[in-house]
Amino acid sequence: FSVENIRNFSIIAHVDHGKSTLADRLLELTGTIDKTKNNKQVLDKLQVERERGITVKAQTASLFYNWEGKQYLLNLIDTPGHVDFSYEVSRSLSACQGVLLVVDANEGIQAQTVANFFLAFEAQLSVIPVINKIDLKNADPESVEKQIEKVFDIPGDECIKISAKLGTNVERVLQAVIERIPPPKVHRINPLRALVFDSTFDQYRGVIANVALFDGVVSKGDKIVSAHTKKIHEVNEVGVLNPNEQPAHKLYAGQVGYLIAGMKDVTEAQIGDTLYLHKQPVEPLPGFKSAKPMVFAGMYPIDQSEYNNLKSAIEKLTINDSSVTVHRDSSLALGAGWRLGFLGLLHMEVFNQRLEQEYNASVILTTPTVPYKAVLSSAKLIKDYREKEITIINPAQFPEKSKVTEYLEPVVLGTIITPDEYTGKVMMLCQARRAVQKNMIFIDQNRVMLKYIFPLNEIVVDFYDSLKSLSSGYASFDYEDAGYQTAELVKMDILLNGNIVEELVTIVHKESASRGGTERGRQRIRSRLQALSCQPRAQCGAETCELQDHDLSQSWKLNRLRHPGAPRDKAHSVGKAICERLKDSLPRQLFEIAIQAAIGSKIIARETVKAYRKNVLAKCYGGDITRKMKLLKRQAEGKKKLRKVGNIEVPRDAFIKVLKTQ
Ligand code: GDP
Ligand code: MG
Repeated sequence: FSVENIRNFSIIAHVDHGKSTLADRLLELTGTIDKTKNNKQVLDKLQVERERGITVKAQTASLFYNWEGKQYLLNLIDTPGHVDFSYEVSRSLSACQGVLLVVDANEGIQAQTVANFFLAFEAQLSVIPVINKIDLKNADPESVEKQIEKVFDIPGDECIKISAKLGTNVERVLQAVIERIPPPKVHRINPLRALVFDSTFDQYRGVIANVALFDGVVSKGDKIVSAHTKKIHEVNEVGVLNPNEQPAHKLYAGQVGYLIAGMKDVTEAQIGDTLYLHKQPVEPLPGFKSAKPMVFAGMYPIDQSEYNNLKSAIEKLTINDSSVTVHRDSSLALGAGWRLGFLGLLHMEVFNQRLEQEYNASVILTTPTVPYKAVLSSAKLIKDYREKEITIINPAQFPEKSKVTEYLEPVVLGTIITPDEYTGKVMMLCQARRAVQKNMIFIDQNRVMLKYIFPLNEIVVDFYDSLKSLSSGYASFDYEDAGYQTAELVKMDILLNGNIVEELVTIVHKESASRGGTERGRQRIRSRLQALSCQPRAQCGAETCELQDHDLSQSWKLNRLRHPGAPRDKAHSVGKAICERLKDSLPRQLFEIAIQAAIGSKIIARETVKAYRKNVLAKCYGGDITRKMKLLKRQAEGKKKLRKVGNIEVPRDAFIKVLKTQ
C-alpha cells in the first residue's frame, strides 16, 4: 500500500452514543466481517465488556475499502468512552490522524463528547462530526448540529447524519474518512521507528505489542531494540488486526499492526515505547504522559495460600492494563497484599472483575482513597521521609497535624451537561461537594454546560449516582486532573477498647457543618425547611431523609433538625456506619467491647458489643470424647484466622465485611 492510500482514525464519543455499533457497520461494509451474522459490538472482546456493554480496552482493526478505483487501507481504533478510560483514548489518538466524533441525535453533546473532542483537538487531528441514531423517534439532528457548531466551532454542514444501527449513510462516513483525514506523514526509506501504543499479554506467545509505524519497515527475523529498556529482541511475527490477528510478511510505515518479539515481562513492553532496528538507532518518538492514578485501594487474597496465584494474575493483567500502579503492602489482619492505584472506581471494578473472570482470582478490596499530600514541617522529618511533600496512598500512614505545615487534596475540573430544568439542583449538589464554579454556558435553548473545580474525594464514590438520580438520568459528567489544593484533613480512627484498628483508618475532610452554627444560619435552615414544607425535629415522619441523597448544601444540618439522632456531618456518618457494621460482624467475647470512631481525642461515634461466654461444648451432652475433641480443634483452627487488637480477637471475616461494604 502506498502511504497515500492509508488512513488511521479513531472513533470517539460519549458512552452509548454508538461507537462500537458504527465500528461493526464499518467492518461489515468493508467485508472485514460477515454481514449475514448478527454482529454486535464485535470489537468488545473481553467478557467484562460484553457483560457490562461498555468498551474498556481500545481495539484495532484494519479495513480494506475500494473507492473511485483505488483501494484504501483504513486502520480503525475503537476507544472506550467512560471517563476512567480516557487514558486509553489519548493513547489511541497518537496513532491516528483523524477521528469520527459520534454524537447521539437524541441526547446531543454530553460531557465525554466535550472531553474527547478536546483530546483530539489538542492532538491536532481532523475531526469528522457524525450524528448517530437518526432513526430514533425523538432524534433531533438539526439541533445537535447547532450544538456542534456552538461548542466545537465546526461548521454544521460538515456533520454526517447516520443510523449506525440500520446502516443509513454509513458509506458516507467511510468516504469522509478518505477525503477529510490526511494520510500519515511517514517515510518508508528511513530506518524503522515504531510506536508501541498498546500491548496485551498472551499466555503462550508472550507480549503482543500494537504498533504504529512512523518510519521504515519491520519483518520477521529483524533484530529490534526498545528505546526504553535498550534490550534487543528478535521479531517472531508481525501482522495486521483484521480484527483478529492476521500474520503478514512485513509492516510498512503508515501501517498499524501487531508485533511479537519474545517479550515476556511487563517492563519490556512499555506503552509509549519506541522500537527501532538494532543496527539503526533513531531518536525515540515522544511517549505518553504516564497515567495518573486517582484512587488507591488495598488488595488482598481471600486466603493467604492464594498469594502467589494472585501475584502472577496481577502481573499479567497489568501488562494488559498498564495504567494500574502496584505497590506491595501488608496488613496484620489481611496478610500480605498490594496497594493498587486506579484511574477511577469503574476502572477498579473492571480490574477486579477481570481478575476474577480471566484469572480466576478472588480478592478483598479495601475502601478506596484518593492520593492526599502533606507538606512536612521540619528538616528532620524531611530527611526521614526523603522528601518535603509526601503522597499518602494509605490512610494508615497519614502523618499527624503536628508534623505538617499543610495537607493537600487532589482536585479535578469537572464538566457537567444538564437540561436546564435541573440546573438548580445540580448546583446545590456541587456546592455540597465543596465544588467551586468556574463557568456556565448554554449549549442550546435548554441545555447547560457547567464547569466546576471539585475535590476528587467528593466525587470518587457516589457523585455520579447522585447526579444521575437528581436529573432523572439526563445530566452527564466528566472530569480531568486539575492538580492539588490546600485542605483541612483529619484522620478518623476506629478503636476497639481504646486500641486503633489500622485497617479501618479513614481520612475525612473537616466539614464546616460540624462547627456549631450561628443564629442566622439556623434561621436560614428553618426557612429552607419551610420551603420544603417539612417539619423540623422529630415531627418529620420520613424514614430516611430524601435530602441526604440530594445533598442540598445544608443537608447535614437539615437532616439533624429533622432527625435529632442523625449524624452531624460526613465524618460522623462515616464513623457511625463503620461502628455499626463492626458491631454486627464482631462475635461477642468474654468481656464488653467498646467500638469507637475518633478524630484525635474526640469520640464521634460509639457502639458496644455485650460480653458473652461462648461455650462450644454447651450442646454436647453425654461423653462422646471424640466429638468434643473435634469441636475444640475446630475452635482452635478458627483462632488462626483471628487478628488481635489489644486483647480482642477479630476474625478475618469481620474485616472483610466491614471493608467490603464501606
Ligand atoms: P458505545 O458505548 O459508544 O460503543 O455504544 P454502542 O455501540 O455500544 O451502542 C450503545 C447502544 O445504542 C446500543 O444498544 C446500540 O444498539 C444502540 N445504537 C447504536 N447506534 C444506534 C442507532 O443508529 N440507532 C439506534 N436506534 N440505536 C443505536
Ligand atoms: Mg463501545
